[in-house]
Amino acid sequence: MGGLVRVIGVGTEANDLTLLVVEDDEAIGRPLTSTLIAQGFDVLWALTAAEAMELAEMEPPVLVLLDLGLPDRDGVDLCRDLRAGYPSAVIVVLSARAEDMDVVMGLEAGADDYLTKPFRLPVLLARIRAHLRRQGPPPGTTAGEVLTVGHLRLELGTRRVEVTGKEVTLRPKEFDLLARLVAGRGQAVTREQLMSQVWDEHWSGSTKTLDMHVSSLRRKLAEHGEDPATIVTLRGYGYRYDAPED
Ligand code: CA
Repeated sequence: MGGLVRVIGVGTEANDLTLLVVEDDEAIGRPLTSTLIAQGFDVLWALTAAEAMELAEMEPPVLVLLDLGLPDRDGVDLCRDLRAGYPSAVIVVLSARAEDMDVVMGLEAGADDYLTKPFRLPVLLARIRAHLRRQGPPPGTTAGEVLTVGHLRLELGTRRVEVTGKEVTLRPKEFDLLARLVAGRGQAVTREQLMSQVWDEHWSGSTKTLDMHVSSLRRKLAEHGEDPATIVTLRGYGYRYDAPED
């Protein structure tokens, strides 16, 4: 079982950004991987979930493009395992199943973003670049800057988050979202502002991704003893970060 390395395309750019494509449909996988390689990325292509785990172990990916309909295993389960094994990787789900429940399940399983098939390659490339750009300090902040509110401490340059001195492991978008809210603490931010600043400057469409990230952020902060009510939902508008009472 498994063990088949389908494609290892080594990009031309001198970077160490390995993208893992998990797609069993060759009619989609072939043009997708060759486009990514032409763009200078190092690309690994898995046709099955088993291959995906094997390739990820060989070369930990910075970003995974994950088809949910795989022959050997449910893509949502694979997503959960990839998330657990590679906490800092960006996972973008590619799925023909546009139903909300699948999207929600994908995000609960740790995906950072999703695109429904059929998608246009330029759109996907723009999305990938936006995700990889955001691996540095969050937009509108400076590397080396540290935000401290109550028990919460965010080091923007190293993307480290602590609650009362204990590190909280956040996904890239959760970190960006928290940094954006904490940097503008006390101020209401609209859903559209958050989507465009944290996800994609040309975002249009569902903001369900945002709600999923807020709820997992609240859960992770609460697990570390932070009051989840510091992230206030403004119904029909957006969110606001309130500094906790001392
Ligand atoms: Ca498929």
